[in-house]
Amino acid sequence: MANLTRAGLAERDARDPLAGFRDDFVLPDGVLYFAGNSLGALPRSAETRVAEVVAREWGQDLVRSWNAHGWIDMPLRIGAKLAPLIGAHANEVAAADSTSVNLFKLLASALKLRPGRNVILTEDLNFPTDHYIMQGLTQLLNGKCEVRTAPAEKIIEAIDKQVAVVTLTEVDYRTARMHDMAAVTRAAHENGALVLWDLSHSAGVVPVDLNGCGADLAIGCGYKYLSGGPGAPAFLFVAERLQDEIVPPLAGWMGHAAPFEFSTDYRPADGIARNLCGTPAVLSMAALEAAIDVIGKAGIAEIRRKSVEMVDTFIALVEQECGSLDLEIVTPRDTDLRGSHVALRHADGYPVMRALIARGVVGDFRAPDLMRFGIAPLTLRHTDLWDAVAILREVLEGRAWDTPEYRNRAAVT
Ligand SMILES: *Cc1c(COP(=O)(O)O)cnc(C)c1O
Repeated sequence: MANLTRAGLAERDARDPLAGFRDDFVLPDGVLYFAGNSLGALPRSAETRVAEVVAREWGQDLVRSWNAHGWIDMPLRIGAKLAPLIGAHANEVAAADSTSVNLFKLLASALKLRPGRNVILTEDLNFPTDHYIMQGLTQLLNGKCEVRTAPAEKIIEAIDKQVAVVTLTEVDYRTARMHDMAAVTRAAHENGALVLWDLSHSAGVVPVDLNGCGADLAIGCGYKYLSGGPGAPAFLFVAERLQDEIVPPLAGWMGHAAPFEFSTDYRPADGIARNLCGTPAVLSMAALEAAIDVIGKAGIAEIRRKSVEMVDTFIALVEQECGSLDLEIVTPRDTDLRGSHVALRHADGYPVMRALIARGVVGDFRAPDLMRFGIAPLTLRHTDLWDAVAILREVLEGRAWDTPEYRNRAAVT
């Protein structure tokens, strides 16, 4: 790449078809926000919508709102809006619970769909909560199933006829490395196993093609690139062909065929609805729905185009401006093999990130030594990349990070 300049990047902003979307978000002055992969910024429409749901629907219309304002339909209505972002049909997705809980539900269902098989196969460095859920499930089943792990590049060869389900996170939360969803899904199916994809670091920024790949099950997070707000409802996907075979392990009334008959016998709803459990978190659902509408308006293909360009640019800027400053770029250079954040390794990554945050460059840190810079294409400008890297260079050159205050770990990193 030719030498990058701030003026050159400002020209790209002037031509950027997505530039206007920045005004659809609340972004504080003086902040360069690189944590959209951790907590997406607040869409203005979500702020307005939540206020309206609180004041009018909850405050005035009260319990009537379940029908009058479609509260009861939120999980499936929002699922249908999410579907095009992940290559699913409208009737294959629901918004519900947290990612961890959805993983538990669908893993337990997957094991039931493959009787006689006892292995859950995952990547050794999958996201911790995903590991914990698998460990908890094997405990619950008194050792009737086991978790097998393999390194990312060895997953396909680790699939055999004992494997009931392969579960992987498509985009790695540390490095942004992306699995080949089609290849892994094919290999699993050739061995009679199911596949469950965690799309937490994909949804809203990487176009996913679940049905194009023949995927069986998926889950994902609502508060990262989807910008659904802190603790936003997560989502789950069950391919249509499997839906009526699912025996829900958390058989709650929202997944009942007729919740308001108040029968004491559980009868699962048809289709995706049986994967719901309890009452939806209406206020959080309202924020998530407004956020997904913004992403849908921008278009996932266009978001990906800008994301790829910005990640390339950020990496090139780090090489150009910080080439001699003890940083290792661990995110893959190959655009087809990565999601939308850049991970930089530095032996003192934690205090360096603290120093950056104190200067308005808000990224985050993942132990032991990775600084992450999330690229959310609807809220970042190309010049923000320049400004952030300039501050990174200044912090590293002047060793501004090297203080006891920045080394001291906060509860959330
Ligand atoms: C963020 C994330 C989660 C979050 O799980 P919650 O239950 O919503 O807290 C789970 N898995 C992966 C891979 C994630 O990146």
